[in-house]
Amino acid sequence: MVGAAWSGLDSQLVEPQRTCIGCRQRGDKSGLLRLVWSAAEGAVLVDVAARLPGRGCYLHPSCAAVALQRRAVGRALKVGVDPEQVALVLAELTV
Ligand SMILES: [Zn+2]
Repeated sequence: MVGAAWSGLDSQLVEPQRTCIGCRQRGDKSGLLRLVWSAAEGAVLVDVAARLPGRGCYLHPSCAAVALQRRAVGRALKVGVDPEQVALVLAELTV
């Protein structure tokens, strides 16, 4: 059953695709940052380990400025985020 083994391997090699909220381009999930709205903290968090629960959105690190300009984070997360808080979070990433 070599064929079955290979098809299993193939499915692991296919990178999940996500849409960047900044440039609206699709890209490999691993190349995008996941941002999550934390209701408990009332803040947007960067999901470094890709494990945080809650509604998330994806963003290229290089698209942080565009996303901020377009207020794309709040729209994508469907919450009234504080733009300054989002800016702080994204600034930490881009330094
Ligand atoms: Zn992008």
